[in-house]
Amino acid sequence: MSKYEHIKQSAYAANMQLPKLGLVLFTFGNVSAADRDLGVFAIKPSGVSYDQLSPDKMVVVDLEEKIIEGGYRPSSDTKTHAVLYKHWEGINGIVHTHSTFATAWAQSQRCIPIFGTTHADHLTVDVPCAPPMEDEMISGNYEYQTGFQIMNHFKELGLDYKEVEMVLVSNHAPFTWGKTAEKAVYNSAVLENVAHMAYLTEQINNNASRLKDALIKKHFERKHGPDSYYGQDEESH
Ligand SMILES: [Zn+2]
Repeated sequence: MSKYEHIKQSAYAANMQLPKLGLVLFTFGNVSAADRDLGVFAIKPSGVSYDQLSPDKMVVVDLEEKIIEGGYRPSSDTKTHAVLYKHWEGINGIVHTHSTFATAWAQSQRCIPIFGTTHADHLTVDVPCAPPMEDEMISGNYEYQTGFQIMNHFKELGLDYKEVEMVLVSNHAPFTWGKTAEKAVYNSAVLENVAHMAYLTEQINNNASRLKDALIKKHFERKHGPDSYYGQDEESH
């Protein structure tokens, strides 16, 4: 048995969640799962439909994007995953989808305003939207540069990737991440839900105001703070 079996299984299971959650169409989207001790991650093969996937079709790649194990070409977004893993050492799972509402905000080049407590349960700021990439970045090593576009935007805004586990890339689509591939998928579904609700909010009231600070703080801390009391036990995230 391969010593990468656990991440191949985890990447497979996480990828299979995407169509179930309505986050992808055809072969769109990809999830990866990393093992930090082995310095590798397993990712969906490129262009293989979800009903054809199996754990042994996952491709194992190192952080320099070198294929370590697998008979398929890895997802075309592999370089973006590799760059993020390399620089953000606290994450072990990354998801990329073109889910409808999150992508619509990305195409509009807008961050998603924090309008309600559903959003505040997960993050205390607007969902960031990295600006459109420069022409040189696009014509050069595009997928690799996409990773830098995300990281540079976080640096500019002073955001911590451990606190804000999602981003929109202008004119493209969302990326999410987490301590596990499973958590990254969860974040992807939450983002789509928040994006949908924010869209509807602006349809109903195009002057809707942002959630006030007291509610942002209250909701985030009851789930994540030192005195959190949401759920039955300590939250895993
Ligand atoms: Zn994409």
